[in-house]
Formats: sequence, structure tokens, C-alpha cells
Amino acid sequence: MAKTLRPLIAANWKMHGDMSWAFKPADFNTLFLTEDRTHLDVLICPPATLLSSMLDPEQTGVLLGGQDCHANAAGAHTGNVSAEMLKDAGASYVIVGHSERRAEGDTDADVNAKAKAAARAGLTPIICVGETEAERDAGKAQKVVAAQIKASVPKLKDYVIAYEPVWAIGTGKTATPEDVDEMHNAIREQVGAKVRLLYGGSVKPANAESLLGLKNVNGALIGGAGLEMDSLAEIAKAAPAK
Ligand code: PEP
Repeated sequence: MAKTLRPLIAANWKMHGDMSWAFKPADFNTLFLTEDRTHLDVLICPPATLLSSMLDPEQTGVLLGGQDCHANAAGAHTGNVSAEMLKDAGASYVIVGHSERRAEGDTDADVNAKAKAAARAGLTPIICVGETEAERDAGKAQKVVAAQIKASVPKLKDYVIAYEPVWAIGTGKTATPEDVDEMHNAIREQVGAKVRLLYGGSVKPANAESLLGLKNVNGALIGGAGLEMDSLAEIAKAAPAK
């Protein structure tokens, strides 16, 4: 049943990019034409400063998202951006609970509140979970991830989960397809058949096919390899129609 979920290929640009990057969706489009990718969704999450300058998703077929949001719609929260603001600037998704935000202090309760805020604003939250290397070495990976999902995921109709083992993010170390398969099967049991499950952690053209082909992997969340449109396009081309 999960096989019918539409793949989502999501690039997280983190704190990279100037105004010239606003045209990258057009470059992506020339590398992977919209008519050849009707079976999948492609998403770029640029820095919030770029969001409203990015080429229109209706023209490029490349959706836009935020990288984080505040739980409140507005208020005295210096330096923060609300889900409503992201929506207003052209986003349809927002990443919440990325391990880099969790490392800055976001708790499961914060992530839960941000995911609710995303839904309130009409955005689809991509809720990130993942164990540390020490937790994996101690044999606790599945337990840790299950607990994060229980606490970070509110009751929502529409959301995406990104499993991103912390030790695989930006390190070049990728979880083996066997590890990813095992974890995604466990997450599928926990969240049911309708939720798209992304894998993230050093996904690149060379490993995309083996990861994206797994039964319960419905796409990828990509950092480094999502900054260049040729590698992002190669990864997206490896996503099978499910
Ligand atoms: C990420 O930042 O979510 C990520 C997976 O990064 P990378 O692909 O660079 O490991």
C-alpha cells in the first residue's frame, strides 16, 4: 500500500545561497523536464531570505519550503519566522525538528508545536527524527526514533517524516540500505500506510537508487547534494514511480 505514495525529493539548502540562486529551479527544470517527472514532487527549501524571490513553482514544477518555523503566527519573537510568513512567501512545506535545530535546543514538544503551526498555516510539515551514533551503537536506534515520533508528531492529516540518522548528516557516512529498510519498516508500522517517509543523510547520486528503491522509502531529504542542480536532478531521476 505504501508503494502508491508519491515520492518527494527535498533539498535543504541550509544557510547557503544568494539572490542568484533564486533561478536554480529553472536550471533543475532543464535537467529534468516537468513532463518526465509527473510521478514525483521536487522541493527546494532555501533560506527564508530567498523564498519570495525564487522562481514560481507553477512555472518550474519545483515546490518551495521553509527550513524551520516558530510555533506562533506572529508576535515578539526576534529573528524568527512564522509558518504563515513562509506560506505568504511561497512555501508549501516546512522542515521542522531538523537535527541542527534540535542541537540548538528544539525539544520534541517544540517540534510538535511547530508541526501544528505548519498545518494551521496550510503547510505540510516535514518532521525530522533520527538517532545519534552513540544511540545506534547502544542498539537503541529504533527505540529512540519511535519515542521521537510519538512526542514530535501531532495528530495531523498531512505530514511527512524524514528519518535522518544524526551521524549520517553532512558526514559522508550513509546508513546502509539494510539499516534504512529496517528503520523505515518500523516507522511504517508506527505511523500507518499514508505518510510519506523520507530518508536523509549523505544521499548522493551514487547511493540514491539503492535507497530510493526500498519499499518504505518515499523520497529523500538532501543537504549537500541538493545545492547543485545536476546532482539533485540525478537523485530525483533515481526515484522510482511508486
Ligand atoms: C540534511 O541536512 O538534512 C542532510 C541530510 O544533509 P546531507 O545530505 O548533506 O547529509
